Amino acid sequence: MAQLKPGVVTGKDYLTLVAAAKAGGYALPAVNVSSSSTVNAVLEAAAKNQADVIVQLSNGGAQFYAGQGMKDGFKAKVLGGVSAAQHVHLLAEQYGVCVVLHTDHANKGLIPWVEALLDHGEAFFKQHGKPLFSSHMLDLSEESMEFNLNECARILKRMAPLNMSLEIELGVTGGEEDGIGKEMDESADNSHLYTQPEDVLQAYERLSPIGHFSVAASFGNVHGVYKPGNVQLRPEILKNSQALIEQRHKTAAKPLNLVFHGGSGSEKDKITEAVGYGVFKMNIDTDLQFAYSEAIGKFVTQNPKAFLYQVDPETDKPYKKYYDPRKYLRAAEENMIARLNEAFQDLGSKGKSLAA
Ligand SMILES: [Zn+2]
Repeated sequence: MAQLKPGVVTGKDYLTLVAAAKAGGYALPAVNVSSSSTVNAVLEAAAKNQADVIVQLSNGGAQFYAGQGMKDGFKAKVLGGVSAAQHVHLLAEQYGVCVVLHTDHANKGLIPWVEALLDHGEAFFKQHGKPLFSSHMLDLSEESMEFNLNECARILKRMAPLNMSLEIELGVTGGEEDGIGKEMDESADNSHLYTQPEDVLQAYERLSPIGHFSVAASFGNVHGVYKPGNVQLRPEILKNSQALIEQRHKTAAKPLNLVFHGGSGSEKDKITEAVGYGVFKMNIDTDLQFAYSEAIGKFVTQNPKAFLYQVDPETDKPYKKYYDPRKYLRAAEENMIARLNEAFQDLGSKGKSLAA
């Protein structure tokens, strides 16, 4: 098994990580974070599972990391991303696992966000000889195919010299996440939720000569957790996309690096099937948000007076040990870690860290 240095993984090491996952039939969870508490919970969970992990920031998560009070919201999205990335660069190696740093959905309006992160990425590269982020994502799936691929090609040209990878989206992931996408209408025609393998072939032909990229192909996956409805997961779309490229370009098996969005609440057998078709990354956000908040809810319910009084008005008992935010935030972290234990298990990546 290839071995890598623990810490943030970029460039060739990132490609090694992706290749090992595909060859080994497992995938890495990509966890959305928005605070040092959630970042640290992800690192701790990865260390406990001896598994490598992907830490990712949406534009909203990055903004929250910088602080909702920052007047210039765009600047906050950029600097929050930089700040979180620096936090991970500094601490990840202490946890003894490999960590990929990634940004989540950037639609047309957020292309300037990605470009501003690349300005910082270029400065970081000059100083450290490696990029600030391992990869970024552009989600231009709501635009025309031509616009989508033109922009992805343009940005990838800028990223390739920094040894960065680009995740693109073809077909629409259902649901809404951080203001991107629409709430599901489960009675509507949902054919747009399924990517055409021909579109994936076109993306492969356009982007593979430029640099490394991965594809979030839609196979009925949805952001958020909804009541089971009429949207069926059809992972065979991933298999068919791989087969089409293999056949046209005489490549080795599974030439595409595939990403599974909306992993929360998905059926376990469909996850396993998708991973078998070359999915190396599964995004998981909603279930972890719930796990984090669920623990805080429990803590407050069990200690209601501590959230009303500093000292109990009847018994004079001081409640500092309970309302200290570290108490309930730690409970939240522990429950997030418990849910992540399950994710590493489901994705087959438990015990598979390449970090030596
Ligand atoms: Zn997504």
